[in-house]
Amino acid sequence: IPTIYGVGGPVARIPDDVTIPQFFFDQHHELNGEALHLRQPTYFIDDATGRHVTGDEVRARVLGLANALHIRWNIGDGDVVCIYGPNHVDYSTVIWATHRVGGIVTGANPAYTAEELVYQIQTAKATVLFVHPDALPVGLEAARATGIRDDRIVVFDAVPGDNHLTVTDLVKEGLLQPKRYVEPRLKPGEGRTKIALLCFSSGTTGRAKAVMIPHYAVIANCIQMKQYANTRDAPYPNEKKLYRSGDVAIAVLPFYHIYGVVVNLHYYLFCGMTLVLVQKFNFENMLKSVQRYKIGHMTLVPPMVVLLCKHPAVKNYDLSSVKLLTCGAAPLSAELTHQVAKLLPHAHIGQGYGMTETCTTVSFPQLDMRIGTPGSAGRLIPGTAVRILKADGSWGGVGETGQLVVSAPSVTIGYLNNEEATRETFKDGWVYTGDEGYVNEKKELFIIDRIKELIKVRGFQVAPAELEGHLLDHPDVADVCVVAAPDDYSGELPFAFVALHERVRAQVAADPREAERVRQSILKHVADHKTQYKWLAGVEFIDVVPKNPSGKLLRRVLRDRLKEGLQAG
Ligand code: AMP
Repeated sequence: IPTIYGVGGPVARIPDDVTIPQFFFDQHHELNGEALHLRQPTYFIDDATGRHVTGDEVRARVLGLANALHIRWNIGDGDVVCIYGPNHVDYSTVIWATHRVGGIVTGANPAYTAEELVYQIQTAKATVLFVHPDALPVGLEAARATGIRDDRIVVFDAVPGDNHLTVTDLVKEGLLQPKRYVEPRLKPGEGRTKIALLCFSSGTTGRAKAVMIPHYAVIANCIQMKQYANTRDAPYPNEKKLYRSGDVAIAVLPFYHIYGVVVNLHYYLFCGMTLVLVQKFNFENMLKSVQRYKIGHMTLVPPMVVLLCKHPAVKNYDLSSVKLLTCGAAPLSAELTHQVAKLLPHAHIGQGYGMTETCTTVSFPQLDMRIGTPGSAGRLIPGTAVRILKADGSWGGVGETGQLVVSAPSVTIGYLNNEEATRETFKDGWVYTGDEGYVNEKKELFIIDRIKELIKVRGFQVAPAELEGHLLDHPDVADVCVVAAPDDYSGELPFAFVALHERVRAQVAADPREAERVRQSILKHVADHKTQYKWLAGVEFIDVVPKNPSGKLLRRVLRDRLKEGLQAG
């Protein structure tokens, strides 16, 4: 089978007998003669308060929290801890402390409704909940519904009038006692199967599933990206090195998503950077922070680039410190690439491509060009291999278009408790991405289309199956198909084609006011139960939802019909 390999030769040795915190904090590594260690004095700056958190403080907090997790609740091998909140200086304290005792972390989107959080807690089987103060009421509701006891709920910061434990309470409690937990020592190879994170992704079909991400995958992706940066940095004189210890990066990408937790948190710390942590994304605040902290690295999703190009406030800020803007999670058009390149004339601009199932990065910006080939999703990094499965079922080579099938040391294990979905997407170490594209002779990747059902709204995943299941609960809906409608800002928005029940159908056809009433009540049905980025952009009534003879929804037919309708105005 023709296979296209990433640049930079074989990937360096990746340790497979350590956990993430053991690799980052306890071991000494070298790559191309450069010592790799988290040696920067300051790990985090809290954007909201300006508080600096040093590496020594982080290590101490991790130790204290790990001890308390063990002593209080006997959290250990395979136990799952859920974090429900935005980025916070203690987010990674919770991750690494849980890993120190052998546990697993699942991060949930703080915008989730209680129902959505319940689904994640139940699917991941979490037994402890760490909550951001702003998310506490919804967190409590979900904890009650899933049987998480009140004394197993921990808030990131004290809330006036509330007496739940805080992370600091637990850290102090753990530090006051002798170290009681015994940290797992992995056998050679065990890092490949020991789960570190459960990040949620719907994969090619169905509802969101918990992707089992082993320690090895996160470590591997960091080493792969570092090796890539080292080889691509080579053409530059030292002062222009794009990744330098002491650089400052902004961390607006949420740590509950694979792109945030692997690239923005672990990889950037691994490169020796300090992270400015942003809890709530506010565009103007982000510009202020770039200016105040002389941010060198911006790692964004396309709608944030749209704002950079269009927002009137941009001209009031000095953004000249930015040396690398990386965009990922959804496509960035060639036009936007050119516009942002004009705005940041000294910065390198490029795209990366990856997915939860590959533990993020498959391709990364072309660091040896100021502007990555517009429209391309970057260059394949060391250690990745790509095969092209063409529409006729045969395998293609360089320049040919088909489904991207990816293998890499960072490939994850599969979906928790879902063998069928795992078998469909993971085959002999290869991930069937559900994305269509090609790779050129320079190993640049181009994504052309998405074959899988997934809808991406501002980089967030929306699973059509989840909305369809929910819409079928609406009393007037007999059948439904949700597809992606293109949108300039969000990239895509969910749009529903609905076949109505017999009894309302005639009224709706006869009376436009009745049609509007039903449409509004369907929109509200979603808005009342789902987080905002899943809200429907529109509803169209159809007689029957098209299906193939085996009953599978013909999404493409409706997606094309929607596009034609939009083009016709
Ligand atoms: P997630 O698992 O949430 O990271 O979503 C992964 C999916 O996002 C991929 O399978 C692609 O469909 C899409 N995606 C990620 N990066 C890009 C990119 N640079 N261009 C186009 N689509 C992308």
